[in-house]
Amino acid sequence: MDYIDEVLAELKEKYADQTEFLQATQEVLESLRGVIAEKEDVYRHEALLERLVEPDRQILFRIPWVDDKGNAKVNRGYRVQFNNAIGPYKGGLRLHPSVNLSIIKFLGFEQIFKNSLTGLPIGGGKGGSDFDPKGKSDREILAFCQSFMTELYKHIGADTDVPAGDIGTGAREIGYLFGQYKRIRNIYEGVLTGKGVTYGGSLARTEATGYGLLYLTQEMLRCNGYALEGKTVCVSGSGNVATYAIQKAQQLGAKVVTASDSTGWVYDSEGIDIDLLKQIKEVKRARISEYAKARPSAEYHEGRGVWQIKCDVALPCATQNELCIEDAQLLVKNGCIAVAEGANMPTTLEATKYLQQNGILFAPGKAANAGGVATSALEMSQNSERLNWSFDEVDNKLKGIMISIFHNMESAAKRYGQEKNYVAGANIAGFDKVANAMLAQGIV
Ligand code: NDP
Repeated sequence: MDYIDEVLAELKEKYADQTEFLQATQEVLESLRGVIAEKEDVYRHEALLERLVEPDRQILFRIPWVDDKGNAKVNRGYRVQFNNAIGPYKGGLRLHPSVNLSIIKFLGFEQIFKNSLTGLPIGGGKGGSDFDPKGKSDREILAFCQSFMTELYKHIGADTDVPAGDIGTGAREIGYLFGQYKRIRNIYEGVLTGKGVTYGGSLARTEATGYGLLYLTQEMLRCNGYALEGKTVCVSGSGNVATYAIQKAQQLGAKVVTASDSTGWVYDSEGIDIDLLKQIKEVKRARISEYAKARPSAEYHEGRGVWQIKCDVALPCATQNELCIEDAQLLVKNGCIAVAEGANMPTTLEATKYLQQNGILFAPGKAANAGGVATSALEMSQNSERLNWSFDEVDNKLKGIMISIFHNMESAAKRYGQEKNYVAGANIAGFDKVANAMLAQGIV
């Protein structure tokens, strides 16, 4: 058995119930075969892969809070500090009932390579809770966030671990978490990113993941002889990533015809009305069905189904494993040319392989959605400097970073004889830097 298979077999045995974590480690390690083979003796001797797949630490804790009726509630809190070889741990906090250790570990593991790919000095981590923010009052959200931070603060800091938003954690939650950190520690530091602009946040952070996704997609299309302008695009989700992906796609001349949430999806033959979508999702916090009620050109459907709509470019921006083999087959049949992942691991392994085998340009999330964390790192720089950069300055830096991520993964794939396999390219480029740093720092 070669080294990678040994490590994967051990993981399968130890963490049989952590399916998402196993999926992520398998996807990454499989694509590193060529790189590992070159230095297999060194890596094996230093137990590099065993150290890479085992988090530095995993913090699990209870989050007690009181609801509006005066009842005490308990949720589970997680922070997985995966790898800090190239910088402080960095990664979002997910608030969703599906959150468990497997999901946080998969996200933290992916984050190591994503953060490395940005070229910025940030390590990988992730956290969250199985708390469901949906239907909660502002006071309940505040009570939960304060209790969450009352434990989390012991483990984070501007030079240690800098969490950010993710599913269910937006500007409101980051504000409440930051307030509680400051209150307990009595330190005003950039301990969280995604903060409001009046208290240390960066302009363009809100837009960064969606905008970055489009900058990378545009570059990928350009380098393969296509233009984004005039293309039909399907987007899933209607949260932070989806909203700003739709907005930037439209600014770049594409027509976006779908959006979704966890209850259903809409098809709008005239193109999504972004102001209406924002009003429904960001202001009213309502269901996507409201969009179709307010827009004559739109149809609403229950459940999943975005990928059956004919498109040139597909941008999954909701959650993990939302684009499976049947969806991939439909996309190929309908003449889709590119898929770029706005969400983390939205495409199953089987669907990814099918898309690649059928010549679809496929940009993996760890490259395509890295704009969020890259801009978070720019927020950290501004906090350290105690300066604020303009929207255009941040947006231009973001664009430069996304274009260079594309070229890094493209050239890494080529170097190992896997031209246009951007999954392999992203993993190789991300791995190289982290592996070298780990080797240089000894057995830690
Ligand atoms: P939001 O919470 O703002 O939006 C998530 C969207 O996905 C909502 O429309 C939500 O619908 C939908 N969704 C969530 N879970 C499911 C599900 N199980 N089935 C179907 N739809 C679902 O999150 P973000 O936009 O911030 O994040 C989306 C994805 O992008 C995640 O994978 C996240 O990890 C990734 N990401 C986010 C970054 C960021 O900067 N925000 C950075 C990099 C990656 P509903 O409202 O009904 O729950």
